[in-house]
Amino acid sequence: MAIDPKIQAAINKQINHEMTAAYNYLAMVVYFEQINLAGFAFWMRKQHEEELAHAAKLFQYLSDRGGKVELEAIPKPSSDFGSVADVFEAALKMEQANTASINAVYALAKDVNDYATLSHLQWFLDEQVEEEKTMEETLGLVRFAGDDKSALLTLNSQMANRPEEESETA
Ligand code: MG
Repeated sequence: MAIDPKIQAAINKQINHEMTAAYNYLAMVVYFEQINLAGFAFWMRKQHEEELAHAAKLFQYLSDRGGKVELEAIPKPSSDFGSVADVFEAALKMEQANTASINAVYALAKDVNDYATLSHLQWFLDEQVEEEKTMEETLGLVRFAGDDKSALLTLNSQMANRPEEESETA
């Protein structure tokens, strides 16, 4: 069944959201590299790669459905953060906005009875639960460390041990 033009437009918008998130996470890598927190930078680079994979997944899905991918402009991200906590506050807000955006595509797919899109988006809904949880937990730890530089350096070391996510390659 040909994809509904409204769903096609919504998925294209979501591809742009994922690419925008990827670019913003890359800007966070820049910030962490500037202040020599290589563990945080490594962690954010993984996050950047995850978002690229999300965009690629939606790109492939739209292509598989015979839809047309439209690549829109990605806004310039900011690398100007006041603190490590500021970065994770921005990241959490971004993930919350992304969840709302995926929910909106889901609601639209429900309206037009596009069951294949609903099924595909299920993975993204589950992923968003993980993303928000991870950001909230990390923000909590960073806030807990506060101005304690040795605590931040311990966290920095732990961030360098971020494992690969198997689900990204699925
Ligand atoms: Mg994403």
